[in-house]
Amino acid sequence: MKDTPYSDCDFMKEAIEEAKKAEEIGEVPIGAVIVKDNKVIASAYNLRESEQRSVAHAELLAIDEACKVTGSWRLTGCTLYVTLEPCAMCSGAIVLSRVERVVYGASDPKGGCAGTLMNLLDDERFNHQAEISRGVMEEECGSMLSSFFRTLREKRKEEKRRKKETFDTSSDEML
Ligand SMILES: [Zn+2]
Repeated sequence: MKDTPYSDCDFMKEAIEEAKKAEEIGEVPIGAVIVKDNKVIASAYNLRESEQRSVAHAELLAIDEACKVTGSWRLTGCTLYVTLEPCAMCSGAIVLSRVERVVYGASDPKGGCAGTLMNLLDDERFNHQAEISRGVMEEECGSMLSSFFRTLREKRKEEKRRKKETFDTSSDEML
């Protein structure tokens, strides 16, 4: 056990480790952990492609696990660490499960609902608000995503090029 208290960075590193597991299986690298009393009680990574489930986001899977572990749908006193800003669905689940605090790494300009497109976590019309800390290890979280998409684009380009080559040679043979 560490003597000094764990910091947000320590737990974000664990979320990043989860994200790496996603990347290893070809998923968009997003990872999440849920911490209670300075201990990780649930961890998960994005599994949308592998499971072909639109709801298999890291945060939702982690929330589900945390509810099982604690035996309660109320995640009072829990902090959720996630490498990318939560989407509308996950932000909704965070509010509904009463997660106390959310710490995220990179912002999501295309889907972020914890402050970027809107802020579902801090809307007083709901009966629960979560405290938010943004930009924790943002650089690491963001670059993991951008390099994943860069590699994906290169792969697709290469595939297209190869397909074209096969097509060209087969049409040559036909002449
Ligand atoms: Zn989500």
